[in-house]
Amino acid sequence: MVENIHWLGHDTFKITGKDVTVFTDPFKLRSADKADIILITHEHFDHCSPDDVAKIQTDDTVIVATPDCAAKLSGNIKTVKPGDIIEVKGVRIEAVPAYNTNKQFHPKDRNWVGYIFTVDGKRIYIAGDTDYIPEMKTFRDIDIALLPVSGTYVMTAEEAVQAALDIKPKVAIPMHFGSIVGDKSDAERFAAALKGKVDVVILKEE
Ligand code: ZN
Ligand code: ZN
Repeated sequence: MVENIHWLGHDTFKITGKDVTVFTDPFKLRSADKADIILITHEHFDHCSPDDVAKIQTDDTVIVATPDCAAKLSGNIKTVKPGDIIEVKGVRIEAVPAYNTNKQFHPKDRNWVGYIFTVDGKRIYIAGDTDYIPEMKTFRDIDIALLPVSGTYVMTAEEAVQAALDIKPKVAIPMHFGSIVGDKSDAERFAAALKGKVDVVILKEE
């Protein structure tokens, strides 16, 4: 289920589909495979990194980003807000809300996003920087959920457990730890609390 999902640290994933390679929030990249599609959740430096985008961008790469991040980038960019659904290179991409409810770093009115996108028939949800929000109850048929667990700017591991129980993915993968905030113990608490309820895979950072 997760063999084509590579965790490159923080919220950076490389998803290698049969026909398409998708990167999310490229940050602190150590290798430079080329991206067909780059999904960026919001303008914070550890998610919207122009230097890292440049490493994996080609003339054919399509970047999907919020307008405040798009303003820092160049190339073929599609801007999105929560609720938008677009198709890029055969990949259906839905921008969904991402915001804080019990802190102020990610106000709802910034219209920052997570994404639900389909690669090789699997629906993948990357939450972005968000708390546990009621919209998560409306997400259907998620195969793989990439959820932040670090606390501070985003959900704690315990809040992410509630999110996973609502979303009911086939597999949940913790992210947003080990780089700026949070460490592996957050991912391990997340996995332990979901044992027997939702399958959790803690990916090795590549
Ligand atoms: Zn942020
Ligand atoms: Zn963040």
